Amino acid sequence: MSLRKITLVEGLPFKVPPIEDITDTLPKKQSWETLPNKKNIVKGVWDKTYHTGLRKPEDIDTIVVHHSGSPEGTLQAHAGSHSRNWGAGIGYHISIDNGRIYQVNDLLTFSFHVGDHNTYTVGIEVNRDLSKGDLTSQERELLYAAILTVKSLLPIKEILGHNELNKTACPCTSMNRIRDDIQLLENKMKQQDTWEAKKTKVGEIANQYNYMFNLINLGETDGDAHWAMNQLLAVREVLKERKLLD
Ligand SMILES: [Zn+2]
Repeated sequence: MSLRKITLVEGLPFKVPPIEDITDTLPKKQSWETLPNKKNIVKGVWDKTYHTGLRKPEDIDTIVVHHSGSPEGTLQAHAGSHSRNWGAGIGYHISIDNGRIYQVNDLLTFSFHVGDHNTYTVGIEVNRDLSKGDLTSQERELLYAAILTVKSLLPIKEILGHNELNKTACPCTSMNRIRDDIQLLENKMKQQDTWEAKKTKVGEIANQYNYMFNLINLGETDGDAHWAMNQLLAVREVLKERKLLD
């Protein structure tokens, strides 16, 4: 199993461009999967084994939010420096950059983006130094779309800032606000779901009415026409009772 070329979660209450997977275009020394000696450290505890291959989706329950920090640079440049530092490719899984959401690794890839917590996390980076200015409303929508998409694909239980797991200022933005906003968006999307479902149900009334009225047009001598007439007269009584007809 692999989680490449992911697509936006359905039902977002705002519009963002589709996610683009640029994993294969970024510089790397080797794939993360072939990088040896990746310690299997789960929630800070090393079980003395090493990780090989891709991670299991059921083991990934946390999203970690990052910013690029300083120096700011292109994703190509960051991938280059990550590969020089750690021997593989870029450490994040998703990057928000120049008004787009880029997938930069398989979501199942064990990469390095947060010390001692890489076995069970997905790293989402805003490719800008947020200490120079908080998230713009566009960056927020892109970040939230990315978070909600990852949540739709993996059993995510927590959304944390890098600074909540390691000693760092990253991501230099309020994680409480991000968590609150995500909760609000999820509630909104749930309501929309129900509304859409209800719309489909009431739409069926019109279809059924049209079908039965066509039967009635078969004329007084037709058995189905009689059946449809009697049914619709009974429905008419219900509408009268509810004062929708008189
Ligand atoms: Zn970070």
